[in-house]
Amino acid sequence: MNEGYTLDTQDFAGQHEDPDTGGRTFCAGWVARPDSRNGIQVVSIAHPSIASASRSAAARLLAAILLLAASGCAGGKPAPPPQSLQWLCMGTAAAVSAPAGQPARVKRLRETVGAVFAEIERDLSIFLTNSVLNAVNAAAGDPTPVPVNTHVAAVLRHALDVAEAGGGAFDPTVGPLMTLWGFRGGPVSHPPAAAAIAETRERVGWRHVRMDLSDPAAPAVALALPGMRLDLGGIAKGYAVDLAYDRLRAAGETDFLINLGGNLRAHGVPGAGRTGWRIGVRDPFHTDRMLGTVVLREGEAAATSGNYERFVVLDGVRYAHIIDPRSGRPVIGVAGVTVIAPTAVQADALSTTLFVLGPDAGLRLLAGFPGCQALWVLDEQPVRTVASPGFRMR
Ligand code: AMP
Ligand code: MG
Repeated sequence: MNEGYTLDTQDFAGQHEDPDTGGRTFCAGWVARPDSRNGIQVVSIAHPSIASASRSAAARLLAAILLLAASGCAGGKPAPPPQSLQWLCMGTAAAVSAPAGQPARVKRLRETVGAVFAEIERDLSIFLTNSVLNAVNAAAGDPTPVPVNTHVAAVLRHALDVAEAGGGAFDPTVGPLMTLWGFRGGPVSHPPAAAAIAETRERVGWRHVRMDLSDPAAPAVALALPGMRLDLGGIAKGYAVDLAYDRLRAAGETDFLINLGGNLRAHGVPGAGRTGWRIGVRDPFHTDRMLGTVVLREGEAAATSGNYERFVVLDGVRYAHIIDPRSGRPVIGVAGVTVIAPTAVQADALSTTLFVLGPDAGLRLLAGFPGCQALWVLDEQPVRTVASPGFRMR
């Protein structure tokens, strides 16, 4: 096993619900498979029985951006790779990394970050029946706003802002369409009929979300239409990563990388002599390969949305888990979008939005987001990429 890489097997024990497959478990027998290519340490995880257990779960785990030890050298010798702890959370892989040789500190980071992720999952999950979000969903159609906490209010505020900026390409009320297309389990084996899509779209629309912020200490939310359903899967992980980042910084921690299912935020460097946290942008067509690498600068975040992460196969056709709310259909034509941004919540929301918009409209939107850059990998052969002017593999 790769020196300096620690797999936290404790955390992988027990049952884990896989929301995309209607609650199958997929957590036993995780293995670490670090290897070395071109002098760069690549850390990945694999699951021996994943093919039979859950294709979508496997794809999702493969989707996490590769964490690469920066290729810089310390004192002429190759510097040791950073240490990571990994665990499962929010239906995906979470990890925290720090420079080598500080095992106690990595454990401390993991405890703080794990607590934050668990807190946000309890608030925002649509898969936990007693989450705050599901209390709002259960009251859809009732004009009396449901009290929420500050996390739910903050994520929703971000989500509605991005929805407006992107002309509805990002829509936190996409929940009924996710269910219709079979992304939430159930016996869906054919694409839905146009009439069903039209009927479902009547219950989708970010403009029907009413936020009552008159008392900032007691926010409340109402969904105007019966059957509406909030789904914050396109933004909640980024929010959780930012919250964990802020908690670590408030505790005086430096030099770490947080990763929640490919939503990353970096602080400092991964070791002496390193220039920054280097991450790999995965090739959507060969998920064991990279298209290139990017070094995250101080405090920067990255997120990737990919058509290989979670998908359903209906009548033999693969549909990605990102829906264009304007058509009610899964997006086609884009294989992956990677966004670099000042915060993880921006990177997360934008990667989903830009996946829907595609490069033309997406580049126009991106111009209004300072410090944000994007790379699209189009779903065509030979592979074609489109990058915003500031996006450089570096
Ligand atoms: P991401 O991997 O961050 O791009 O998020 C994808 C997830 O966001 C999906 O699994 C859904 O939960 C949700 N989602 C799908 N389509 C949209 C959309 N158009 N706007 C907002 N959220 C979406
Ligand atoms: Mg996203």
